[in-house]
Amino acid sequence: MNTKELDKKYIMHTYGRYDVALKEGKGCKAYDEDGREYLDVSSGIGVNSLGYCDDGWVKAVTAQAGKIQHISNYFYSEQASKLAKTLCEKTHFTKACFGNSGAEANECAIKLARKYSFDKYGSGRNEIITLKDSFHGRTVTTLSATGQDNFHTYFFPFTEGFLYAEADNIDSVKELISDKTCAILIECVQGEGGVNILNKDFVKAVRTLCDEHDLSLIVDEVQTGVGRTGKLFCYENFDIEPDIITCAKGLGGGLPIGVCLCNKKLEDVMQPSTHGSTFAANPIVCAGANYVLSVVADDDFLNEVVEKGEYLKDKLLKINGVKSVRNLGLMVGIELESKDAHDVAIKCVENGLLIITAKSLLRMLPPLNISYEELDKAVEILDNTLQSL
Ligand SMILES: *Cc1c(COP(=O)(O)O)cnc(C)c1O
Repeated sequence: MNTKELDKKYIMHTYGRYDVALKEGKGCKAYDEDGREYLDVSSGIGVNSLGYCDDGWVKAVTAQAGKIQHISNYFYSEQASKLAKTLCEKTHFTKACFGNSGAEANECAIKLARKYSFDKYGSGRNEIITLKDSFHGRTVTTLSATGQDNFHTYFFPFTEGFLYAEADNIDSVKELISDKTCAILIECVQGEGGVNILNKDFVKAVRTLCDEHDLSLIVDEVQTGVGRTGKLFCYENFDIEPDIITCAKGLGGGLPIGVCLCNKKLEDVMQPSTHGSTFAANPIVCAGANYVLSVVADDDFLNEVVEKGEYLKDKLLKINGVKSVRNLGLMVGIELESKDAHDVAIKCVENGLLIITAKSLLRMLPPLNISYEELDKAVEILDNTLQSL
């Protein structure tokens, strides 16, 4: 049996797959098992932030694999300490807690916010307000946090204590605040929800509400973090400082990592045995993340992400059939005039462009170091595909 047949026979069908088995890649190019080339503007959903098999990243990861591959969290780890230091020094946060995925990072953030409130105010003050059309993960608790009804099926009972407000409607947030509220959790740009860029005044007003009621403001930066929006973290575009952020996808450059960062107010809330994970802060994974940050956490690099985003948007808007484009840096949503985004994406893949969707939009999350020529090529394939349908 070939790869596709084996997959269909032995792997649970939790994803609708494109009809491609990818075998190798370099930069923005991927190759399938028949040697066919694809231009990838999806980066494994924003994970391969420096593209496939970046030379410096491969060197950092393989060197670490040859040194020490795993250490339990009962021992100190050079790579993890260094990564936490960089993340804190580049932001206002003071402490990090590592995990292996976005959902886990959000679990950590939720536990942290609830324990802060429990320690200070006692039991019962545990509700968290999230936004409609958000996405926060697939664990039973992060499904609860996700503000979309279709995620709240089958797996009952879900974790209690999540309330859903409307994005960009501060009154709908205010209405949900009570003496039971402990935190507000938002994505500043809703990724899976359709690349919805929140209004800056709304985000600032949420920060103010959190200050007034001593609520922890948690910003989910799982998709938006690590340079994706042209800032190291997306919240910087909104002139606020969250109490907690979570980050995952692009951080490891292709290896599984999640991190929850908190400010001084919350830094001593977690104590031994309140949280943990066997694989968390794996040295190889952290070596990958340290390399990614050594490239991405640089003003010139981040400014280029902004410029490439603008360049891409201008070109996309000229395509016949594109209705509008929403982007912040290289997080890009493309609204089509009439065609179904999913059908277009499948056709693009057939035509050699790996692209994904978000709700009814096409979505691009290209490697942050994509070249202008490659952006041109991506636009050309999308244009040809749209005109041929
Ligand atoms: C992908 C995503 C998650 C979940 O991350 P996993 O690594 O799949 O668990 C959570 N929040 C946001 C905003 C995401 O985009």
